[in-house]
Amino acid sequence: MTDWFEKTIFYFIFAVVAAGLFFGCSKTESDHDHSVREARTFELEITYDEAMSDSLNNDKVVKSEEEWKEILSPSQYRILRKGGTEMPFVNKYNSVYDDGIYVCAACGNPLFHSDTKYNSRSGWPSFWKPIRENAVGEREDNSLMMTRTEIICNRCDSHLGHVFDDGPEPTGLRYCMNSAALTLVEEDK
Ligand SMILES: [Zn+2]
Repeated sequence: MTDWFEKTIFYFIFAVVAAGLFFGCSKTESDHDHSVREARTFELEITYDEAMSDSLNNDKVVKSEEEWKEILSPSQYRILRKGGTEMPFVNKYNSVYDDGIYVCAACGNPLFHSDTKYNSRSGWPSFWKPIRENAVGEREDNSLMMTRTEIICNRCDSHLGHVFDDGPEPTGLRYCMNSAALTLVEEDK
């Protein structure tokens, strides 16, 4: 009985990880620092109206790695600055559909509006279009023996996730993002 139970748990975990590797963001690592993540989350001072505005200060944000370590939680640092990927399904925004704007967790740059978020069943928050054309940048990623298109924040060059061409209309794109790279600024009620 115990043996059966252990096997079931093992296959379940294996299936979740395998599904994650198959469907998208890949490079999956476990988050051992869950418990300390929230303690050092950077407080972003940006309102919904500011995020919607086209008159934002788009100057590049440049910081040393030491400065990023001070600002970001260990998980955020590993993902945003080292190109890591969080676990699928158990991340913060995968199943969240509240109205608002997702901004970069490192610098506050507005990235995606909740209107373009959809359930890709990949286990990561997915969007079919950035909020502005120049909000994100692309880089070729040849890791894991495949070629993918990495998505970075255009303001601070932090890693956000990848883009794939299996998304819904009208763009046909799937921006597969890490929750830890995002902060949701909710629409004022
Ligand atoms: Zn940024």
